[in-house]
Amino acid sequence: MGWLGLDDTDTVDEGCTTFSLHALIEALPNDVKVGTLRLVRLWPYAQQRTRGNAAVAVELSPSNEAEFLLFLDRYWREHLQPLKGNISPVEDGNRAQSATDPGMVWFSNRTKNSTFYFDAVRNHISLGAIPEATKSWGGMGRIGATAAVLWPQDKMTWEAVCWRKKERWSTSERSVCDEALAKADHLPGTFLTRDPRTERSLISPRGTCPVLFGVRSRTKDTAKEAARLLTSAEATEPSIAWRVFCTNQATDDHLDHALHAKVQSIEVLSRGTTVIQTNAGKWLAFAESGDVKHLAQSLCPGDEIEGMGLNPEQGVLHLERLRLHTPAPTKERPMCIACNRRMKSMGKGQGVRCPTCKNRQNEAWIEGKTRMSSPWTQPPMDARRHLAKPLDWNKEPNKSRNG
Ligand SMILES: [Zn+2]
Repeated sequence: MGWLGLDDTDTVDEGCTTFSLHALIEALPNDVKVGTLRLVRLWPYAQQRTRGNAAVAVELSPSNEAEFLLFLDRYWREHLQPLKGNISPVEDGNRAQSATDPGMVWFSNRTKNSTFYFDAVRNHISLGAIPEATKSWGGMGRIGATAAVLWPQDKMTWEAVCWRKKERWSTSERSVCDEALAKADHLPGTFLTRDPRTERSLISPRGTCPVLFGVRSRTKDTAKEAARLLTSAEATEPSIAWRVFCTNQATDDHLDHALHAKVQSIEVLSRGTTVIQTNAGKWLAFAESGDVKHLAQSLCPGDEIEGMGLNPEQGVLHLERLRLHTPAPTKERPMCIACNRRMKSMGKGQGVRCPTCKNRQNEAWIEGKTRMSSPWTQPPMDARRHLAKPLDWNKEPNKSRNG
């Protein structure tokens, strides 16, 4: 038994990595047993970022490994290597993707080394850092392919990915039955199926690619059940196939422990993006980050905060979680007892005076209204990373439950 990893095979014309894996599995010689499939999300800022930055892997048991490797050689040359150099057009205003540089790796024994996986999910990785595979093919894609194989799979969720008919790949429109979607959304364990506020579907990608939908669940069985519901509905367009992947989505694997800092200043930029200057560097709450941004904007100098996120550049934290740990004590000018007006400073160290009756007092400050610490905040579900775990899962009695 070994693991095959695959990455960076996506272009708009040629498909996406999950479909490349499906096609490869369909072409396998009969003696090769197929085990678990994996869809592994990686460092979202990678320079050679593929769509959604996902790599895939599959557990395979060939009865004759030498013959199986010859099959892989041939399959690589005929189907995967030719994808090299393809460039996807700019999608929905996102930045242009770099040229495809597919990679494939075969590990006949998966080492228990998870360090590489965590590096690949939290940092930029160079080709030189990859642990050696039994055999590997191609270029940059080997990074993600290897990370997908070395994922320890301690925490996991599931996603049933369904691919549409080839003649539909060039359109960005997709038909998935609304009623079936509502039913799938109500199955115990499915998540990020519909936006609860708008009931908008969250399971279909927006661009032109082979994926009709990907329905996420905390259990494998429910992922299958949801896929059956959706594909069998009359109002859902015909599809080629669907398969269930074990994934690191919603595991928080990309986040290290929480950082603690003291607020120095707050600056609100265009569209509400908020920069928190702290004694531990610059923390950014983006315009789309909802509660995180609102909390950031309410902070005061001296507040002690905690945050989690990724560091795409040195000293800058892109916030995915934020909480107010200890609010700074606030102070304000006292009120004039006679006039109930706020008193004003007469200059440094000279006390305060009522602007109406000119009453004076030496005590220049009193304690202001008490602010409360806040629980953790997180961006709304449609602005979250695939890797982000919903906060309310942490409130459940058994935290380690992952399906
Ligand atoms: Zn007064």
